[in-house]
Amino acid sequence: MINKIVTTYKNAFCPTNNIKIHPAMDKSITPTANNFNGGTLQCHCNRDAVIVKIDSQTAHNHACGCSKCWKPKGALFSQVAVVSKDKLSVTHNRSKLKVVDDTATIQRFACRTCGVHMYGRIEDKTHPFFGLDFVHTELSADKGWAAPEFAAFVSSIIETGTDPKDMTAIRSRLNALGLESYDCLSPTLMDMISTHVANSK
Ligand SMILES: [Zn+2]
Ligand SMILES: [Zn+2]
Repeated sequence: MINKIVTTYKNAFCPTNNIKIHPAMDKSITPTANNFNGGTLQCHCNRDAVIVKIDSQTAHNHACGCSKCWKPKGALFSQVAVVSKDKLSVTHNRSKLKVVDDTATIQRFACRTCGVHMYGRIEDKTHPFFGLDFVHTELSADKGWAAPEFAAFVSSIIETGTDPKDMTAIRSRLNALGLESYDCLSPTLMDMISTHVANSK
């Protein structure tokens, strides 16, 4: 009860709580469900929606501040996770998908009509993340997806218009949500990249 009162008080008076990180994180973060084995993602079209099926739990879910990841309107960050590409299939309206930028490392497949990115794929076989697809599990009505664990490329939101003066408040909001802020990827993922580089030498 006391905790609830404290939280309510904080929500009412803490200015950083007005910061819109991402709709799936702003109120609270839904914890990962054990034994969750995937579900479907759907674009924002009311009819003929693109549907993507994922046959496993996702990994490394995080808030991303880069300018390339798709994010919902008003959000400062995207929410993005990875899944093995052989666990992902487009089951409905594949013809509506187009690659956003075919020169980018990650080929992001977006719905032509609503603009939502359905998945991102790396075609370069030498890339450390080859074999993984990038997905936004907020597009799913299924509950139990891996919860976001950290925030990546936080400083990059300045490039898309955030006032540098707001960064301290944004970082403390991320911290209050339990998301450690990094200006690249998390140490786990940076270590994976460096291990890949070392092994390929
Ligand atoms: Zn759509
Ligand atoms: Zn990103």
